[in-house]
Amino acid sequence: MPPMKRRDFIRTTALTGTAVLAGTWSAGAGSAVPAPQSGAGRPILITSANGAAAAEKTMQMISGGSDALDAIISGVNIVEDDPNDTSVGYGGLPNEEGVVELDAAVMHGPSYRGGAVAAIRNIRNPSKVARMVMERTDHVLIVGEGALKFAKAHGFPEENLLTDRARAEWLKWKENLSTTDDWLPPHSIDDDGIGEIYQNYLRHYGTIHMSALDANGNLSCATTTSGLSYKIPGRVGDSPIIGAGLYCDNEVGSAGSTGRGEANLLNCSSVMVVEWMRQGKSPEEACLLACKRINERQREKRLQDEQGRFKPNVKFYAINRKGEYGAAAVRGGWNYLIHDGNSVKKLEGAYLFK
Ligand code: ASP
Repeated sequence: MPPMKRRDFIRTTALTGTAVLAGTWSAGAGSAVPAPQSGAGRPILITSANGAAAAEKTMQMISGGSDALDAIISGVNIVEDDPNDTSVGYGGLPNEEGVVELDAAVMHGPSYRGGAVAAIRNIRNPSKVARMVMERTDHVLIVGEGALKFAKAHGFPEENLLTDRARAEWLKWKENLSTTDDWLPPHSIDDDGIGEIYQNYLRHYGTIHMSALDANGNLSCATTTSGLSYKIPGRVGDSPIIGAGLYCDNEVGSAGSTGRGEANLLNCSSVMVVEWMRQGKSPEEACLLACKRINERQREKRLQDEQGRFKPNVKFYAINRKGEYGAAAVRGGWNYLIHDGNSVKKLEGAYLFK
């Protein structure tokens, strides 16, 4: 199917219930709630669906007067440490060789600084190392072996991040990847079709992004992930790339993403979300514009559905300086979390396509 023309795109989105009218978006059927507002000056945070415990911790610290970035890092550390979250930190799914490689970045609104590490091995809290890059180097991004050496220089302990659970998942993927290699899943001598690709063993994405506004009205954000499972060693996604997987401008807002990182690397999506907020779009409108931009620019058939629309999901989370928040994804049927100082709330995110 040929790439969609603008006209077709508008028709498609209208059919799926997300209104597109001369550049203005309404929440449509994709949102369980109208574009939300919160009181100015009141702390708020937005995070991905795996961030409930992180949100509680972060808001507890912010309510006690912490700087947003201190609080965000303490929050996302919980997810990095959790062996049951196979998309972030310790216990994250490994690369194609069975080695866990992590990506993370942080941005601190009030000082307009950022730091990141990519493809770092053996260190469970890459968000802390990213912060160390920001505070203790003249660089913004350090990768691979250099990132590990840098972390060790600062006393971060080296450890094996591959849990038995993640290793077993990786082994299933490896053994079912091909019928023409020598790795075989458990089978009996009567079984046929051994080693075919099973849907369950296909690769998946997963990450935590968090953006927060603290009690002093300052914004910060972090994104931390083990990235695309079973990736080629050394592959770096959008999460540690400032402008792609996260962006924060203390005068405007903060935004970040989870999902197919390659789309954000090609579209500098997170900085665009912040720039659209600067131009007056609401957080949700800005997130939807990022989804629209990804869809309009994709040309590769292997990444399209039967209707020529972008198939993988990419999700955006944003808050602005006034404490308004919103989120949107290319594909619907998804949730994100906010914490408004009272409790964590799970909301349905807006979307371009069902
Ligand atoms: N965006 C991450 C990456 O591409 C993965 C994810 O969010 O699921 O590495």
